[in-house]
Amino acid sequence: MTWKCPECGETIEYSEEDLAQKGNPVCPKCDSDMEVSKTFSFIIFSGDDRIVHEFDVEAKDEEDADNKAHDELSEFSDGLRLEQQ
Ligand SMILES: [Zn+2]
Repeated sequence: MTWKCPECGETIEYSEEDLAQKGNPVCPKCDSDMEVSKTFSFIIFSGDDRIVHEFDVEAKDEEDADNKAHDELSEFSDGLRLEQQ
């Protein structure tokens, strides 16, 4: 699993076993509690189903990913459709 520091953006690899044994990781740079970071893939389609843009977002859960994806979508014109892969 990839974990990310919400303060400085540092990322580390920290496994399920590490988590079970040592608990949540703290940032090696600034000692903040880190958050798990997963990669979510999205595609933006036009009204006639052509792919306009494919992108990944790093987020801690589905809701966070969805918010970030909608931020990305807002960079494009209206009438486009967002789909998570
Ligand atoms: Zn940090």
